[in-house]
Amino acid sequence: MSISCGNVNSDACQQVLVRTRYMKMTPPVEEVRKRSPSDYIFGKVLGEGSFSTVYLAKDVHTNREYAIKVLEKAHITREKKTEYVMREKEVLRLLGGSCQYFVHLYWTFQDAERLYFVLTYAKNGELLKQIDKHECFNIECTRYYTAELVLALEYLHGKEIVHRDLKPENVLFDENWHILITDFGSAKIVKEETERCDNESDTNFRKRRNSFVGTAQFVSPEMLTDTSSSYASDLWALGCIVYQMVSGLMPFRGGSEYLIFQKILNLEYEYPEGFDKIAKDLVEKLLVIVPNKRLGAIDAKPYVSIREHELFNGLNWVNLGPPPIISDSISEHIIPDHLEPGLDEEKVSRLQLDLLPPAPTPSRKKSQPGRKITDLSPDEIKERLDEQKTNLYHTFVGGNLILKQGLVDKKKGLFARRRMFLLTLGPHLYYVDPVTMVLKGEIPWSGDLRAEAKNFKIFFVYTPNRKYYLEDPEGYALEWCKAIEDVKTHYFPEKS
Ligand code: ATP
Repeated sequence: MSISCGNVNSDACQQVLVRTRYMKMTPPVEEVRKRSPSDYIFGKVLGEGSFSTVYLAKDVHTNREYAIKVLEKAHITREKKTEYVMREKEVLRLLGGSCQYFVHLYWTFQDAERLYFVLTYAKNGELLKQIDKHECFNIECTRYYTAELVLALEYLHGKEIVHRDLKPENVLFDENWHILITDFGSAKIVKEETERCDNESDTNFRKRRNSFVGTAQFVSPEMLTDTSSSYASDLWALGCIVYQMVSGLMPFRGGSEYLIFQKILNLEYEYPEGFDKIAKDLVEKLLVIVPNKRLGAIDAKPYVSIREHELFNGLNWVNLGPPPIISDSISEHIIPDHLEPGLDEEKVSRLQLDLLPPAPTPSRKKSQPGRKITDLSPDEIKERLDEQKTNLYHTFVGGNLILKQGLVDKKKGLFARRRMFLLTLGPHLYYVDPVTMVLKGEIPWSGDLRAEAKNFKIFFVYTPNRKYYLEDPEGYALEWCKAIEDVKTHYFPEKS
């Protein structure tokens, strides 16, 4: 795989981009000065996606900070995500740098193993983190960020792009607390697509959605049925985000993707007590099953009817004014000056593993011989659940009792990602990124799940569709396998 290089805004590069797209992505000979990893000092890992790692990096020439998204070519090819990566790049290029509410793609380049996207650094992280931190936003704050989202959607849709994966994880904050929308891998470029491609794109999207591990709560009903996605799909997601800002909760919740999808299709959600009435009215007008009936969907000039909603009474849409102060602490990540520019295997591993926050103290109690981890009376479960509320990871397990937890390296391609693994009643086997404190996924349980230790550190979890390669750095692989086996015997006795 190969991508074009250079400054994304230059005309020369635009031509190069188009040409490489149709010339099997062969790198151009003539291009603006090539960039390479050695133009940057790579610092902290800001976050990880399914196919990428995002680093804070400093341009050695200008000292400016960027977020550099690094994608392993082998992993992208193996997982057949080339289209996803090209889509993201193309959309970022189309967006250019003229709307402040989107991350800007400054450069792309590559080396033998990896692709690099140099992006605006969103210094204040994700909207989701702020909602979780504050539990919910007050109405002024909700109004302000909803207005920024509306302006962003007006611009995006004006460029004939549907985001299709709008959610609070994909809304970041810049250093001045303005939103920066990101993650365009699922986006649809409407004008480029013929009738045939359009359907193909939706089908591909659904295929991808069915295979990704992540939040499904923001998917619109039309994306779950056979109908095409449209701009109104993003209006549905807007309704979900407003609901979450006001209440701290996602409107459609459930123990599995299937249950969540059922609730979405049946428009089955409730408003918690005290939910602001005006915001509720807006949410109700956006969370409408028929796409064309959502507020704004048929506006001749988008999104006049949303702008006119009572929530925005008195708001100056030309100048929203300064953002509300939602947090006084800006997380300052300093890139030490003594680091060498560039990125190699050793640096990747060091950045992955060294810069963890103060380690949470996982329970490492050895299991008592003869006693199963699931041998618990209802009273014991209740008592332990009460204790668990002070556990940093309690919020990720949907109210289930954590039976075992610990940091485990989850291998994916050449990389090992350190994750907090949480084996719970239910049963569930969640894993959380301990750096960003984001739930990264869950190993799906069934009677066919099986754990096998290779040695004291390495163990495998087999599911019908996948083999997970795991390593417990502290050498408790056998404990993990026994715990998983106990849970399996408890829930699927016939399979044990
Ligand atoms: P997936 O591909 O699985 O949907 P994703 O889109 O979140 O995941 P990335 O775009 O690689 O994956 O981002 C991974 C994480 O890195 C994000 O969750 C976010 O916290 C962080 N991140 C991404 N872009 C930036 C940025 N421009 N500035 C600061 N942090 C960022």
